[in-house]
Amino acid sequence: MYSHKYTSSTDILKLILSECKRGEYPYIYATKKNKTLKKRILIIGASGQLGTDLTLQLRKKYGDHKVVATDIREDDGTLSKEGPFEVLDAMDYEAIEDVVIRYEITDVYLLAAMLSATAEKFPMRAWNLNMNSLFNVLNLAKDRKIKKVFWPSSIAVFGPTTPKQNTPQKTIMEPSTVYGISKQAGERWCEYYHHKYGVDVRSIRYPGLISYTAAPGGGTTDYAVDIYHKAVKHSKYICFLDEQTTLPMMYIDDAIRATLTIMDAPKKSIKVRSSYNLSGLSFNPIEISESIKKQIPSFEISYKPDFRQKIADSWPQSIDDTDAKNDWGWKNNTSLEEMTAIMLENLSD
Ligand code: NAD
Repeated sequence: MYSHKYTSSTDILKLILSECKRGEYPYIYATKKNKTLKKRILIIGASGQLGTDLTLQLRKKYGDHKVVATDIREDDGTLSKEGPFEVLDAMDYEAIEDVVIRYEITDVYLLAAMLSATAEKFPMRAWNLNMNSLFNVLNLAKDRKIKKVFWPSSIAVFGPTTPKQNTPQKTIMEPSTVYGISKQAGERWCEYYHHKYGVDVRSIRYPGLISYTAAPGGGTTDYAVDIYHKAVKHSKYICFLDEQTTLPMMYIDDAIRATLTIMDAPKKSIKVRSSYNLSGLSFNPIEISESIKKQIPSFEISYKPDFRQKIADSWPQSIDDTDAKNDWGWKNNTSLEEMTAIMLENLSD
């Protein structure tokens, strides 16, 4: 079609309309394709539990060389094998800016953080890392050096005064942990940067994430990963939470699908610019151990609650995620039984 000579803009318009009538949308298609072609992703804190799986999925979707994985730790070969990997400190604004410029980054996923259990041991370090890393990335977006930001929040934004069952999107939020306080403050800043500076920042309040690829990074829900490792290795587990402690959880594939979906959604459909509630599963240690026993009948669990019990007791048991469902079509897929089957099968290899 480009071999014809068109002398006026009316001719060009006629051409577009005729192509559209024939069911071909070359210009619309080209625009969408160009957006995808131009996308370059930076993941900060990529070597952790979420980042390892997320990096691999984003590379599958956009191409290995378009997703730059970074972490403060050297890579063990997992992320540097197929695509770019750099050591990068989330606290160092200039170093992040340098990577953004060198790789022509458009979207940043900021995953570096100190999680709930570790943060209770190092409160000031946790606050500094969790807040300064976020400001670094939000300020890059404010200055239009990047286009889009993903920053995860957590169910830890809720506290002992929050309704525990079916916790609403908007409710009392009085977190009692350093981690929760930093995530709640982060949410407020995300919303502020969106309203004040037009920053396109998107966020999810993840529940406890369960995966087999990378070890969990010091959270209160880590028991629900550890239990599968110990079941496969020793057929028994000593749980650091008591048997009735019900918490919201999610299998990693669902969490990653949610992340890709919210980042792909049209700007106007993202109505919550603090962070979205997201619900997957809710279970306690007895229920997860029963699901393991169906496959490993000799499995035994015992209980020795430690300081993490208090953190868990301050969090909700189940989450209302109506807004995520309505605004960008969220739906959880994996049940507890399915997750147990996947975890045991992969850890047995
Ligand atoms: P993780 O601890 O497993 O990984 C965090 C990564 O950040 C690590 O690889 C660590 O080396 C890196 N890191 C630490 N300090 C850094 C720095 N200064 N610069 C660069 N990298 C640094 O955590 P995760 O479970 O993968 O969590 C990722 C994000 O998701 C965090 O923001 C966390 O709060 C959030 N989240 C996780 C869960 C969960 O259950 N895993 C639940 C809710 C929210």
